Amino acid sequence: MNTKLLEELTGWRHYLHEHPETAFEEVNTSKFVAEKMREMGYDVHTQIGKTGVVASLTNGDSPKTIGIRADMDALNILEKTKLPYASLNEGKMHACGHDGHVVTALGAAKLLAESKDFNGTVRFIFQPAEEHGKGALAMLEDGLFERFPIDEFYGLHNMPALPEGEIHSKVGPIMASEDNFQIKIKGIGGHASAPNQGKDPLVVAAEIILALQTVVSRNVDPVDTAVVSCTEIHTDGIINAIPSNVVITGDTRSYKAEVQQLLEHRMRLISEKICEANEVECDFSYTNSFSPTNNWEQCHEIAVQAAKNVVGEEKVNDHANPIMASEDFGHFLDIIPGCFVFLGGNREGVESYPLHHAKFDYKDENLLEGAEFFAEIVRLRLT
Ligand SMILES: [Zn+2]
Ligand SMILES: [Zn+2]
Repeated sequence: MNTKLLEELTGWRHYLHEHPETAFEEVNTSKFVAEKMREMGYDVHTQIGKTGVVASLTNGDSPKTIGIRADMDALNILEKTKLPYASLNEGKMHACGHDGHVVTALGAAKLLAESKDFNGTVRFIFQPAEEHGKGALAMLEDGLFERFPIDEFYGLHNMPALPEGEIHSKVGPIMASEDNFQIKIKGIGGHASAPNQGKDPLVVAAEIILALQTVVSRNVDPVDTAVVSCTEIHTDGIINAIPSNVVITGDTRSYKAEVQQLLEHRMRLISEKICEANEVECDFSYTNSFSPTNNWEQCHEIAVQAAKNVVGEEKVNDHANPIMASEDFGHFLDIIPGCFVFLGGNREGVESYPLHHAKFDYKDENLLEGAEFFAEIVRLRLT
């Protein structure tokens, strides 16, 4: 094991953990990244998609380019780890391990800059604002792939529930889409004792919430996967008055674009028709926040080979269970080939908290495994 490199990476990771920054505010993080990459000899471009960084290194004469992506943003969570390197930015925390992802990419960059055993160009993409699904799109809108062409793109997410050092991948959808909806219902409020004199939007909202649960059970093909969750309901907020306004918000997940479209279509129809039958107004809006993350077969095979070379065959699962959480790396894989994998961080006997938990901490052992995995992909593809 390269203990010297692991020590260095651990120090960098603890520094970033101490200084978490949330979506599009990753100013210090991108400065840190840019400095490290320049020191290693990379050609660095900053402010791509606001706070994003692209760093490239060419070796040899092959025109082929491989991209490695790391997300940089933290969450608005009050850290409760009591670690010596706990967050100094109160209310912000690296609770999803993106501090680890950044340093994993830095580690791979360092390995490749030192070994120079590849023929072509490697590009490291440090992406802002993953948590809300806007960072990948911001980089794309800034011309990421036009300015910095990439033939294949790879990324990873740490998974605290999977055994430490295991790498899991699968062909096709590995993480779900996320869409958000809002249903504004406008009725006629009034005295709570006289519902007959108004048009109660709250009863209509209740009917809609229940009816929306038939979309997955009755409209989506049973062999497909989807979730419809109403997550909030807001009214005018007076205990003895029927409200005039009710707003329902929520979230849907699926693995296919056609299922996304079906969910939107059925949910809109159900909401509008129930409102019409009850003579209240309906304003239905639906936004696509995250694409499903769909792994391309040829890149999945490369990722699996690289994983086997680095962590050993017995620690690789090439038929991973997909998860319904979302990841905005999916926006990139809508456009170019690539693969996204899970890296296990659960060591037996060590307490492990889930992602987004106030006591979560990235496993430092994963830094070297992830760095060697990324470097191996580059070596396999740039020969
Ligand atoms: Zn997260
Ligand atoms: Zn994350």
